[in-house]
Amino acid sequence: MAYDFDLYVIGAGSGGVRSARFAAGFGAKVAVAESRYLGGTCVNVGCVPKKLLVYGAHFAEDFEQSAGFGWSLGEADFDWARLIANKDREINRLNGIYRNLLVNSGVTLHEGHAKLIDPHQVEVNGQRYSAKHILIATGGWPQIPDIPGREHAISSNEAFFLKELPKRILVVGGGYIAVEFAGIFHGLGADTKLLYRGELFLRGFDGAVRKHLQEELTKRGLDLQFNADIERIEKQADGSLKVTLKDGRELATDCVFYATGRRPMLDNLGLENTGVKLDKRGFIEVDEQYQSAEPSILAIGDVIGRVQLTPVALAEGMAVARRLFKPEQYRPVDYNMIPTAVFSLPNIGTVGLTEEQARETGHKVQIFESRFRPMKLTLTECQERTLMKLVVDADTDKVLGCHMVGPDAGEIVQGLAIALKAGATKRDFDETIGVHPTAAEEFVTMRTPVAG
Ligand code: FAD
Ligand code: NDP
Repeated sequence: MAYDFDLYVIGAGSGGVRSARFAAGFGAKVAVAESRYLGGTCVNVGCVPKKLLVYGAHFAEDFEQSAGFGWSLGEADFDWARLIANKDREINRLNGIYRNLLVNSGVTLHEGHAKLIDPHQVEVNGQRYSAKHILIATGGWPQIPDIPGREHAISSNEAFFLKELPKRILVVGGGYIAVEFAGIFHGLGADTKLLYRGELFLRGFDGAVRKHLQEELTKRGLDLQFNADIERIEKQADGSLKVTLKDGRELATDCVFYATGRRPMLDNLGLENTGVKLDKRGFIEVDEQYQSAEPSILAIGDVIGRVQLTPVALAEGMAVARRLFKPEQYRPVDYNMIPTAVFSLPNIGTVGLTEEQARETGHKVQIFESRFRPMKLTLTECQERTLMKLVVDADTDKVLGCHMVGPDAGEIVQGLAIALKAGATKRDFDETIGVHPTAAEEFVTMRTPVAG
C-alpha cells in the first residue's frame, strides 16, 4: 500500500525533531505535527528558559561577592518584566531555528493538533495523512494534585510568563523543578518557601548530596519546610492566598507553584483508535526498540516515562530514525551512566550510582569525599561549601558514581561521565593530572576513603 509518508511524527519537541530530521536525512519521506510550540518543552517551558532564569538569579550572589574583590556597586534593582521579555525574544529566535532545521532537512511541517484515526492515519486541521510508521513524541504535562483550590496554583508552564515577580511564593515538591525554581525565585528576591511532603527532598539522589544541598540552601536563607503538604488553598479578598497545611498550619502567600511531577501528554490523541497500550503508570508502553503494542506506532521521550531528560529523548529519537531507515547504523540507547544536573543554586552534578544504590546492588564500596570553600569565595563573606564525592567498587577499583554540589557541577560532571562510561578506575582518576587551580581538580586528588 502507498502511504503519504514513511514516518509521521506527532510532536516537534526534543525527541520528535531529532527523529524527523535524521529520518529525512536518511532519505525517508517525513512529516511532523506540532500543536503548540516548535522545540517542545525544553525550548519553550523547560531547560532553556529555566537556565536563563537561573543565570538571572545568580547575579544576586555575584553582586554581593564583588565587594570582596574591590568593587562598589550602586543599589541593585531587578526588573522581572525585562528579564521575561528578553527570554521570550530568545525563545522566539530558537523557534525560528527549529522551523528552519525541519524545513531545510526536507520534513513537512503541519502546525496543528494531531489525532490518531487508525494505526496508519492521523488527522491534523481536518486533513488525514497516512504513514507506514507513526512516532508519538508528545512529551509530558505538569501534574497538580486534586486539592481544594488547585485552580489558584500555577505550574512551571505559567511560571515562565508571570506578569510580576511574586513578593511571596510557596513552591511545592522536592524534585528537579521545585528545587530549581525555589532557587530562581529566592535569588531574584521573592520571599520563598519550599514545601516537600517527605523527610528530605531530591529522593533518588545521593544522601550526602541531598543533605549538603539542604544545608547550603538554608544558609542562603531559603525557607525549607519538609514533612509539609498542602490541604487547601483559598483566595483572600486582597488577592493573596491562604494555604492550609495538613498539619493545620496556615501560611499566607501570593503564589503557590506546584512542581509535583509530570504526566504523559495523551490528550485527544486518539489512542483508542489503535492497539497502543499504557503501562501501570499511564505512560505509553514500548519494547526496547520503542515499538508500542500497535506494530506501526512507536513512542519516545517523556511520553514513555523512562528518563525525562532532553538528551535521552534526543538519543531515543536518533535510535528510532536509525532503526527504521538506517538499520546498519542502529545502536540501542544505553541507559547506564546518564549524567544529570539540577540547576539549583548551587548546582548538583551527578553520574552513576549513589552510595545507597551501590550498597543495595551488592557492591563493597569505598567512599571518597571532599568538602571545601571554593577559592572564589575566600575574599568574600560567603560561607558556601562545595561537596565532591566518589563511590568506588572496593573489589574492582571501578568508579561507580561521581557526585558534586557546587558551582558549575553540571559542567564538571559531563567530562567525568565519559570517564565512567569508559570504565575508569579510581587509579585512573589518581593518575590523571589535575588542572590547577580549579575546583574540578579535587576529583583527581581525593586519596583517603572516608568509609568502607
Ligand atoms: P517535548 O519536548 O515535551 O515535546 C512534545 C511536543 O509535542 C510539544 O511541543 C507538544 O506541544 C507536542 N504535542 C503534544 N501533543 C500533540 C498532538 N496531539 N499533536 C501535535 N503536537 C503535540 N531536561 C534536561 O535534560 N535538562 C534540563 O535542564 C531540563 N529542565 C526542565 C525544566 C522544566 C521546567 C521542565 C518542565 C522540563 C525540563 N527538562 C529538562 C525535561 C525536558 O524538557 C524533557 O525531558 C524533554 O523536553 C522531553 O522531550 P520530548 O520530545 O519527549 O517532549
Ligand atoms: P520530579 O519527579 O523530579 O519530582 C516530583 C516531586 O513532587 C517529588 O519530590 C515528589 O515527592 C513530589 N510529589 C509528587 N506527587 C506529589 C503530591 N501529590 N503531593 C506532594 N508532592 C508530590 O518532577 P518534577 O516535576 O520536578 O520534574 C519532572 C521531570 O522533568 C524530572 O523528573 C526530570 O526528569 C525533568 N527535569 C529535569 C531537569 C534537569 O535536568 N535539570 C529540570 C527539570 C525537570 P516524592 O519524592 O515524595 O515522590
